[in-house]
Amino acid sequence: MYITNNTKTMKGTFISIWDDGVSIRTNAILNTETGEVIAESVEAGNVEELGREFFESSEFFNSGEEFEVCPKCHEFILKVVIKEGNEALVCSNPYCGEMYISNT
Ligand SMILES: [Zn+2]
Repeated sequence: MYITNNTKTMKGTFISIWDDGVSIRTNAILNTETGEVIAESVEAGNVEELGREFFESSEFFNSGEEFEVCPKCHEFILKVVIKEGNEALVCSNPYCGEMYISNT
């Protein structure tokens, strides 16, 4: 990602939780304009055992706020949209575009 002074970013942590309960935390930056998450280092693992990935903000204005990361491309957060009256999550990555219907 190319970061300029005008790029709106959020500092935080990229957190991966695996099916066996192990969680991996990595310093990361979220580009709030594109939804892209840049982790300092990415742990390679068996993606099939990956339970959940999310970005946790460490900024003062929303510290602890969580943003779900796309389980398909693993690089962009999911954003909430309304689809046929239901809340749905859509990947911020226009080339991914994966949509998840939430049951809540
Ligand atoms: Zn995606």
